[in-house]
Amino acid sequence: MFEWPVAADGYYWVSNADSEENKLDLDSIQKDRHGSWHGCHLDANTRVFRWYHPLQDPGLFLTFAETPVTPKGMLEFANQYGHLGSHIAPDDPDTIPNFDSAEEKERYVQTKMRRYDPIYIWQKSITEMRRWIKQWDHLAKDSSRLKSFFGDINSKLAHDACRVIFLPNRRSHGGYSHSIKPTSLLAALWFQLGEAVACNKKFEKCVTCAKWFEIAPPFVRNSRQYCSEACRSRAYRERREKAINLAADGKSASEIAGILGSDEASVKGWINLKEK
Ligand SMILES: [Zn+2]
Repeated sequence: MFEWPVAADGYYWVSNADSEENKLDLDSIQKDRHGSWHGCHLDANTRVFRWYHPLQDPGLFLTFAETPVTPKGMLEFANQYGHLGSHIAPDDPDTIPNFDSAEEKERYVQTKMRRYDPIYIWQKSITEMRRWIKQWDHLAKDSSRLKSFFGDINSKLAHDACRVIFLPNRRSHGGYSHSIKPTSLLAALWFQLGEAVACNKKFEKCVTCAKWFEIAPPFVRNSRQYCSEACRSRAYRERREKAINLAADGKSASEIAGILGSDEASVKGWINLKEK
């Protein structure tokens, strides 16, 4: 399973030229005359990391594509989901200790190395991903565009962007099966997009928490969509509370149903329950 570190104390932008590693003020980061952000990269405030599984959230690439292409927007994404990790430079390559496994070495490299993502990689990646997502609906109808899409995805996943590893799997006849493992968060996001197009996945945005989540066929369009039972019941509780407050303000059940987009019978039930 692909795991990724997020700096527990967040990240900051630092000038590429600055040997003192001073934190840059968000407002001081400027675009160049070609309209590109440049001249700085992300680094972690402290070398303390928490780990999570980005591929357990199959809509994460959509959240990434929605990230505002500003130093603040990109920093906020990093603080929540980690650095992109496709461009890291070691402090001093000679100081990397020897490890028994590639896994352990990779873990070490991702957390101990300095000089994370250059800002232009963020800008380029978000812009490119947005462009493909915008074309998504047309890809299936146009085989040449679909071919160029997967050509691009393949080039993004070339070289050492992904590895194949064999892991224990009780359901496999031989006890092991293979698994694809991205070596950076950025590779994982491109992999997710390729997978989403290849499998014709559908996504909805949770009405409660705004997270993108995959919906399974048949694609029945409900009026409200939730990523989890927790979000569904939170929304339900909030609607019920609002209904009770509106009733206290003297609104009728049918008026409340109209305001909340609920049916009148439910609203009456909530109000009556309160009165008892
Ligand atoms: Zn949700």
